[in-house]
Amino acid sequence: MNADIAVREPSQDLVARVAAEDPRFWAKVQVTPTGCWVWKGNCLPNGYPRLTRQGTGMYAHRYAFSRWREPIKSGLVVDHLCCVRNCVNPMHLEAVTPEENHRRSTALMVLNRAHCPKGHPYVESNIEWEGRARRCRVCRREQKRQSERRCALRRQGKVA
Ligand SMILES: [Zn+2]
Ligand SMILES: [Zn+2]
Repeated sequence: MNADIAVREPSQDLVARVAAEDPRFWAKVQVTPTGCWVWKGNCLPNGYPRLTRQGTGMYAHRYAFSRWREPIKSGLVVDHLCCVRNCVNPMHLEAVTPEENHRRSTALMVLNRAHCPKGHPYVESNIEWEGRARRCRVCRREQKRQSERRCALRRQGKVA
């Protein structure tokens, strides 16, 4: 959990409000030590929490955000700052553009990946940091060797 989210921890007031205003919703919430409100109700195959109201299915996290944070402007998606897909804590959510959401999830995927694109493990000894990006040392060496080989061949006049 990052510090950003800790600041956004809902006050007991919000807990009391949600429990009072929508007990059916609150009954399906399990609060975790990290402050996530994990949805115990149905989830869609994609892992997002589902809620049914008056026969209409909707995303439970979108419902929570629009009811206890602010209305969701059209075209915006609700992003999980905590990265827990079935969390419905309004304070862990943020309405962003689909582009921003995509950018964030790709950045995260890259960071969570345990291997480089060639399958070498991203262990401490094999990581070279380039700003905030990780580079694989094995691949680096391989690339260097290849370019040296190309240079040698070029010197011998075998490639243009
Ligand atoms: Zn959460
Ligand atoms: Zn590699």
